[in-house]
This record gives sequence, structure tokens and C-alpha cells, in this order.
Amino acid sequence: MVMAGAGGGVMPGVRDAAGSGSLSRGVGCRTVEQLFARLQGRTSPSGEVDYRLTRRSTLRSLAAGEVDRAEVCDAQRELMRVALGCSESAGEECPVCRSPDRLRLVRFVFGPRLPSGGRVVASAKEMNRIGRRKGDFRCYVVEVCTSCAWNHLLRSFVIPSVISPGWVSPT
Ligand SMILES: [Zn+2]
Repeated sequence: MVMAGAGGGVMPGVRDAAGSGSLSRGVGCRTVEQLFARLQGRTSPSGEVDYRLTRRSTLRSLAAGEVDRAEVCDAQRELMRVALGCSESAGEECPVCRSPDRLRLVRFVFGPRLPSGGRVVASAKEMNRIGRRKGDFRCYVVEVCTSCAWNHLLRSFVIPSVISPGWVSPT
């Protein structure tokens, strides 16, 4: 299932490397992709960017009391709506509230002729269809807890233009 373009409405409250609050409150950022691009991640040779170090650091800061829970559990209403209706289970418990089955993965795809706010893609079939289009498309995977509103960018990757039958989108 594919949601209609998110337009500018989805501004996930992803945080910068210092865990200093929602980037959606940043100044001068016009699109979600620009917000994502400001996060620091580790880039692999394949172009995949891993943000789990930043995630761990944010969770450590939370555990140490350096960050308020309200600052990290700040998924906006639109992101919560997408997480409830167009996502897949993360298959693990929420790292903040420990809910066993409320952690969801939302995939935003950016590229030519897609909405500036990205398109939410929930199926491999749709991912394949976009990958075959002309141009480069990048997918950002965000985890969202539909119980406590925790949210964090996990990784991003370029969608292959030819997807082999065995290819599984990174999660
Ligand atoms: Zn939670």
C-alpha cells in the first residue's frame, strides 16, 4: 500500500547527533530530506547510511537523565498517523517504553517527481516500482513507537534500479 504523497506535512521529529531536540524545529530546513541530511551517520561503501550510533547515543542520554523523555518521544501527529496506517512492525520492543509490539518502521522515499516531503512506501512491490523509474531514489527508514511517540532515523539507502528477486530492503 502506498500513501498519497506526504507533502510537507510529515516532519519526523528526528534529532541531531547531539540529541538536542527535534530537527523539525530547525531553522532554514525546507524539506524532510534536508532534515535527514543533517543527521550524522556512518556510510557504507554501498551508500547505505547507518544512524544507529546516534540512536544509541540518544538513548544513553535519556537513561542518564541528560535528555527529557518529552524531547525524544516527540513524533508529530502526521508521523504517528503514518506509523499507524502505513508501516511494518519493527519486530522488537520500544527502547523507551518497552511496549512489545508498538514499534513500527516507516519508509520515506525521496527522488525525482516525488513530493518534497517524501513518499511513504510500505510494500516491496512499490519500492521495486520506484526503483525502476529514471533517476536516483533514496529511502529513509524511521522507527516510531505508536505508544510513547519515540522516533528515530535508523538508516538510509539508495533504491537499486534493478532489484533482484532476493533483494530485501534494509531495515
Ligand atoms: Zn514506546
